[in-house]
Amino acid sequence: MPHPSFLARWLAVDPDSAGLVLDGLPYTHGELRALGERVGGWLSALGVGPGDKVCVQLENGRDLVAAHLGCMAIGAVRVPLNAHYRAAEVGPIVEDAAPRLVIARDPSIYAGVPVVTTVEEGAPLGTWPTPPGDVTCWLFTSGTTGRAKGTPQTFAMWERNLDALARRWELSPEDRLWLCLPLFHTHGLVLGLHGTLLRGASAVVTARFDPVLPPAGTTHFYGVPTYYRRWLDTMHAHPDAFRALRLLVSGSDGLPAELSDAVYAATGHRVLERYGMTETVIIASNPFHGERRAGTVGTPLDGVDVRIVEGEVQLRGPSVFGGYEPRPDPGAFTADGYFRTGDAGELDESGYLRIIGRKKDLVIVGGVNVSPAEVEVHLAKVAGVAEVGCCGLPDLDLNEIVACAVVADGTVPLDALRAALELAAKELSGLKRPRRWAFVAALPRNAMGKLQRARLPGEAFA
Ligand code: AMP
Repeated sequence: MPHPSFLARWLAVDPDSAGLVLDGLPYTHGELRALGERVGGWLSALGVGPGDKVCVQLENGRDLVAAHLGCMAIGAVRVPLNAHYRAAEVGPIVEDAAPRLVIARDPSIYAGVPVVTTVEEGAPLGTWPTPPGDVTCWLFTSGTTGRAKGTPQTFAMWERNLDALARRWELSPEDRLWLCLPLFHTHGLVLGLHGTLLRGASAVVTARFDPVLPPAGTTHFYGVPTYYRRWLDTMHAHPDAFRALRLLVSGSDGLPAELSDAVYAATGHRVLERYGMTETVIIASNPFHGERRAGTVGTPLDGVDVRIVEGEVQLRGPSVFGGYEPRPDPGAFTADGYFRTGDAGELDESGYLRIIGRKKDLVIVGGVNVSPAEVEVHLAKVAGVAEVGCCGLPDLDLNEIVACAVVADGTVPLDALRAALELAAKELSGLKRPRRWAFVAALPRNAMGKLQRARLPGEAFA
């Protein structure tokens, strides 16, 4: 018997079973497949073939899902882009991905590539081939370098991870997810969208999270800590609507224990926290039945081997990607093949993993990764700037915000410089824009002259 592949399993799901609610309209799994085949026909007529990359920069909704399904139907590789990205952010990604086609609402931010602004349908074409090398997606993730890094994603890594998660969380076709996480990120795309397809389950997809009641009939929810914090008032006002859910999951950033306790007090649900990354999918999760320990991310999933070396979480496992493309990072893996997460953690005696910090320079704003180096490179171009250093500062709503310390070169008055910096920051998507600024005489550097971002909060923003 051949190993069941992700696509074969989804194509075998009962065509009449409930699939996704998109833009308020329900689609069965059969209707989703037919939609994918018509969009696949349109893409093929535009010259897209198996293995070709298609950048998809759209908000959650019917068009975004249709674009993904259309690519899947013809074996094209999807490259999802954050819907809020501006020209400065999409440029390097397009250069690295070299897509055959871009599907985006605003063609003006792209140069040198064909862009279409709507998703259309053509004569059905759906052979649903496994794409070359099984690579179905490239996700670009804000790394610690200034440039987003391409991570090829295979159906095999997703399938193994989603099966391990389904066992851990007791997911079944009866489940109906409220899927409001952005579908351009691993959390919403892999766990939310592809998890729902693989299980033959259903999901209500909405454009964004609003702190309202969960849609009628939904059984579970995936969110980031900021969503839970914003949801507390509604939870207090309507505890029964939340008690009706089977499972609340949090990830992408640490869920503070006080917030976990506050949700518990309001709803009786202990939010199940899990830990993962674009490069590895989900690594560890708290249990469904056993003890969900606030402040920990639970135990490693089946087949995942986690170790702590000099305080850093390192791991091997079936869902770990093969390496960055097209710019490999020789330091991403250890010599003995463990992926270096750059997160600081500890394992307790019962095997629960606690994430205690980040060894890498990364700021996570409302669950979205921001590379301080990328913001620095962008702002250093402003006339009047000698040097800039960015860091994260704690924030009650977003968990962290970006803060920027600037050394002026004395050629521009400080108030004009501040205005020019804010204007330049608007060329970046909103969560990357610094919310605190400081003018300083010098940036903290080590003996080698390397910027020490970890000292900035204490020295520039105390
Ligand atoms: P991303 O690739 O965007 O999913 O971001 C991955 C990073 O998010 C990880 O390396 C961690 O720094 C952080 N992260 C994800 N889940 C958690 C969690 N449960 N607790 C703390 N940090 C997390």
